[in-house]
Amino acid sequence: MQKRYLLAPGPTPVPPEVLLAMAQPIFHHRAPEFAELLGRVRDDLKWIFQTRGDVLILASTGTGGMEGAVSNFLNPGEKALVVNGGKFGERWMKLCNTFGAKVEEIKVEWGQSVDPQQVADALKRDPSIKAVYVQASETSTGVAHDCRALGEVVKARPDTLLVVDAITALGVFDLKTDDWGLDVVVTGSQKAFMLPPGLAFVSVSEKAWQKAASTKNTKFYFDFKKERESQLKNQTAYTAAVSLVVGLAEVLKIFKAEGLESLFARNHRLADATRAGMQAIGLSLFAKSSPSDALTAVEAPSGVDGQQIYKQLRVRYGITAAGGQDHLKGKVFRIAHMGYADTFDVVIAVAATEMVLKELGYAVQLGKGVGVAQARLMPAGK
Ligand SMILES: *Cc1c(COP(=O)(O)O)cnc(C)c1O
Repeated sequence: MQKRYLLAPGPTPVPPEVLLAMAQPIFHHRAPEFAELLGRVRDDLKWIFQTRGDVLILASTGTGGMEGAVSNFLNPGEKALVVNGGKFGERWMKLCNTFGAKVEEIKVEWGQSVDPQQVADALKRDPSIKAVYVQASETSTGVAHDCRALGEVVKARPDTLLVVDAITALGVFDLKTDDWGLDVVVTGSQKAFMLPPGLAFVSVSEKAWQKAASTKNTKFYFDFKKERESQLKNQTAYTAAVSLVVGLAEVLKIFKAEGLESLFARNHRLADATRAGMQAIGLSLFAKSSPSDALTAVEAPSGVDGQQIYKQLRVRYGITAAGGQDHLKGKVFRIAHMGYADTFDVVIAVAATEMVLKELGYAVQLGKGVGVAQARLMPAGK
């Protein structure tokens, strides 16, 4: 027997009370009780998104929300500016190209965050750019981009939208959708929202709805205007993912009981302890600026294959983390600490990393990283 631990950057563990809620017999998506449920979760989603605008709930993975965030707001031939600093920045590139946009790329070295001035300069050079696409947290590199600063840049331009992939950001760190001028914010169920995969959530500002009204790109299922009309009546355009919405109501209850400030503080504490613990082992963080509080990408020490670290964590100790993607394969491994994560998940991650590295022949003093992480995890002042 081997106990299993899920420390991957999605899917993430689901709390038992959420699993239990989802085990209820299914009810019909046109029944009054579903409309009542949808009304409740729609209100609570606005709270966690920090918006007064609509937050659409879609039965799809996060990428479905991203697809709609392109097809609903860009006509073929219109210009998009994409911040591309990793695997998910590349996804914005591919989506914008798929829907016929003219794409200008700001290529950011993997491990770095974008300089908002670069975005400001690009928009000044070409005011015809209709939307800026960015990740709030680039999961492939463990880096956060400064959405507050980007919001300042884009807010001043009435004909440009700021579209944010917040799939590993919303519910992890502060993201003030309305106050910062984030026009479209996308997240998914299986990361910080601690649900199984299968839902996407998308907030849309008034400015973005106005742009959507004049956009005629190819779309059918991900037609946000049509979906909004239904959801304003507490209905979904097509069959709702009923059980996932039941689970979502439980998750939102947990979020509300904790409160935004405590939620962000917990995530920061776990991230900080993970980073400190890994560095105390002698490892380097892959993020060279603005590490994301959702996950930590750690460089494999020279002579050790990062894929082996990730694999041995699973084989030896039942821990599912993640390896590196594309050219980072073998160079990094990634540990998540978002969602249903707490103090001892970090201790497990750091302890197991020490043990695996020792087995792989890297000189580790067992307990060194754990001790540092523990010290960071203690209540302040202890
Ligand atoms: C996971 C993730 C996605 C993709 O979400 P899917 O649910 O797999 O479609 C997109 N962007 C970021 C930043 C992610 O972490």
